Amino acid sequence: MKPHMAKGSRSRSAVPGRLSGWAPATALLLAVTTSCTGSAPGSGAVVGKPGTAGVGDRLFPALGNGGYDVVHYGLTLDYVPETNHLKGTAVITARATEDLSRFNLDLSGLRVRTTTVQGARAKVACSGDEMLVTPAKTVRNREVFKTVVTYDGTPRTLKDGDGGMEGWIETDDGSTALGQPSGSMTWFPGNHHPSDKATYDTTVTVPKDEDGDPYDVISNGELITEEDKGRTVTRHWRTEEPMASYLAHVSVGCFEIHQGGTDDDVPVYVAIDPDEAEDSADVADLVPEIVDWAGKRFGPYPFSSTGAIVDHLPGLDYALETQTKPYFGEAPEETLLVHELAHQWFGNSVTPREWKDMWLSEGLATYAEWLWEEGRGNRSTTEIFEDFYDGTDAESGGIWAFPPADPPSGGRVFDPPVYGRGAMVVHKLRRAVGDETFFDILRTWTRQHRHGNADTRQFIALCESKSGKDLTALFHTWLFDKKKPSRM
Ligand SMILES: [Zn+2]
Repeated sequence: MKPHMAKGSRSRSAVPGRLSGWAPATALLLAVTTSCTGSAPGSGAVVGKPGTAGVGDRLFPALGNGGYDVVHYGLTLDYVPETNHLKGTAVITARATEDLSRFNLDLSGLRVRTTTVQGARAKVACSGDEMLVTPAKTVRNREVFKTVVTYDGTPRTLKDGDGGMEGWIETDDGSTALGQPSGSMTWFPGNHHPSDKATYDTTVTVPKDEDGDPYDVISNGELITEEDKGRTVTRHWRTEEPMASYLAHVSVGCFEIHQGGTDDDVPVYVAIDPDEAEDSADVADLVPEIVDWAGKRFGPYPFSSTGAIVDHLPGLDYALETQTKPYFGEAPEETLLVHELAHQWFGNSVTPREWKDMWLSEGLATYAEWLWEEGRGNRSTTEIFEDFYDGTDAESGGIWAFPPADPPSGGRVFDPPVYGRGAMVVHKLRRAVGDETFFDILRTWTRQHRHGNADTRQFIALCESKSGKDLTALFHTWLFDKKKPSRM
């Protein structure tokens, strides 16, 4: 993600309104959990226990669920833009990590119609943004099990107090779905935490408009089939590589499609809203250029396709690195395109294990912008570092508010320290170990944790083993110390 700094360095998540709304839901859920435990049938039989209602993330305790790991989401959606009505079937294939008498899915604002687990009708109770699913039979540890949920309703836009929005958002010609940190629960039930990555098949049926033209549907991964059924069109997109649910995406609307390829033959799919076409004339050429440039520095491109979506969504105050095709609500600046494409390596392929590790995603994506600017012959990375340190760079406001690897709770993980000071840590590291070791560290990082999750401790350990240096003081000062570090 990158907030639009030109409109101020506000964080859309910094306002406590929505976040404080989660706390009562969690409290209520705990009460429900207690009463359900006592109703397990039989004695002495293996009945398992309920999975937890969150994965225990320090910054977002209610997100995700315990007791299972999703392998695949099969999402079949019917969407009518005129009425903003969504009807969905989610087939969730998961592996249990304990005996489960019950487990939770995160879903916000939609009506659940039916739920089955392993083909048998399951009991469902909904509490806040949590679905409590009690299968007919205990799911055994390590069992791969299928949950099918049918649901419908008007999908929600989640908003915070200063107008920032995520979730399902209506546009002037359709809709878009953005999920950082929690918006994906507004359009499909799941385990909505970055630590649980899965592959996806997303099939969306939309009607034709009044002129008989079909709406376009763009999603992550590759377009597998497109079927004209007369009054409707169905498009099937597949994401073959694991994806954190905050990166799952669907855009419905009118788009001009540009297809091409990178030097390494990675297919490029760029979708541009006609209202943004004039200002986005260079995007279709820049995407492969940036992906090739980044591949030389960060290691091979991690996914089977790349691209971008430039929509027309005035008022969206950020861009998002939705997997394989980052999303922009307006024509992007070149460095913003670099930032979101760099996330395909840092954040999307190597995903933070917890939200507090987000500096590994945002700090490295921001540093990619610095490298790009240096490569274009503008400021050197050292000059940019100095401009951030002195506060003269336009994006340096607020970067000393807290240490980047220890963000306060309440959604401030999207605040400037995680980006600006996060990139400064990366520059300090590069200066300490030299260019050769530095880029070796980045390429090793993306290779070792490709399509997985990783954390700050692992990054520090890699930097020390590659460089043979004790980097404790550097990381302590720049990542964890509350004070503004001295220049040295
Ligand atoms: Zn970002």
